[in-house]
Amino acid sequence: MGQGAPQPDAGQQLVLVIDDSADVHRLLQARLRGEEITIAGAMTGREGIRMAQEMSPAVIIVDLDLPDMDGFEILRALKDDSSTMHTPVMILSAMQSRQDKVTAFDLGAIDFVCKPFDLVELRVRVRSAVRLSVLLHMLAQRAQIDGLTGLYNRAHFDSRWGEEVAGCMRHNRPLSLAVLDADRFKTINDTYGHPAGDAVLRGISRVLQSELRGADIACRFGGEEFCIIMPDTDTREAHAVCERIREAVRATVWAAHPERQVTISVGLVGTDGTSWKSPAAWLETADRNLYRAKQEGRDRVISSDLSGGDLSERDLSKAA
Ligand code: GH3
Ligand code: MG
Ligand code: MG
Repeated sequence: MGQGAPQPDAGQQLVLVIDDSADVHRLLQARLRGEEITIAGAMTGREGIRMAQEMSPAVIIVDLDLPDMDGFEILRALKDDSSTMHTPVMILSAMQSRQDKVTAFDLGAIDFVCKPFDLVELRVRVRSAVRLSVLLHMLAQRAQIDGLTGLYNRAHFDSRWGEEVAGCMRHNRPLSLAVLDADRFKTINDTYGHPAGDAVLRGISRVLQSELRGADIACRFGGEEFCIIMPDTDTREAHAVCERIREAVRATVWAAHPERQVTISVGLVGTDGTSWKSPAAWLETADRNLYRAKQEGRDRVISSDLSGGDLSERDLSKAA
């Protein structure tokens, strides 16, 4: 982030103003005071684009007429960059040109305001752009959340897993991945009904949330299958965590069927940070271990370490 860049307080939204007129910056500062807005200013297009990329503002206000680039070029650059493409952009212009308005909206601007602007009107337009930004952000987050359990969904896992492998590998840090599957879950649905099955899925997710640390990432992979990414956790530590989760699920008493236990099987793979495989190969190994856990009688955790293959039950029970 640029030196001296204003940091919005919690609940404050950052609005970036790209305009070469110090008067406009002053005016906006004065007029937007009292809104839940912090203003950052850039006097040139290049500086503005850099600040937009670094600061992720909620809204960007761009003057059409700047010394180094025109506002349309800035708009194109913002819409071409994945980090700024969804940020609402308002255009400010000294000219009442219909063609400029058409071009601005065609390029993805959400508003066009002519100078000299009516300050009351500008204030409500900025407020409305900020509201749009907050809603877009919320929608993007929701798209990554599983509706039934509130855990991250498969889409989030798919984008996150590769990043976690790359990040830990770059710094030779430990990492573990667990795939969990509810045992004989179909019979829970068949015996007690689908709502009881849903309650079990929510219950398992509550166990995950209470047993995991803040840095761990729990996802609903699909159906009755979950996965956990555990950064900075080697295979032994992760095995102990999964054993705790397995025990806690087993010990849960279910309101709809207190007489019937639910168990889970877990396939785990981890590294101390010295041996690595591709993200897809990790998943294959975790799946293979899960399959083995099912084959060997369910209600168990099977682990392997990237450096040394399978860990023996004895090694792991010492860790647990
Ligand atoms: P195993 O021990 O081999 O894993 O047996 P299983 O019965 O758990 O496995 P199977 O894959 O045969 O069945 C999974 C069941 O999960 C089938 C499907 O109806 C149920 N299921 C998937 N998604 C949901 C859901 O969102 N809610 C409920 N209630 N059931 C679901
Ligand atoms: Mg199952
Ligand atoms: Mg399954």
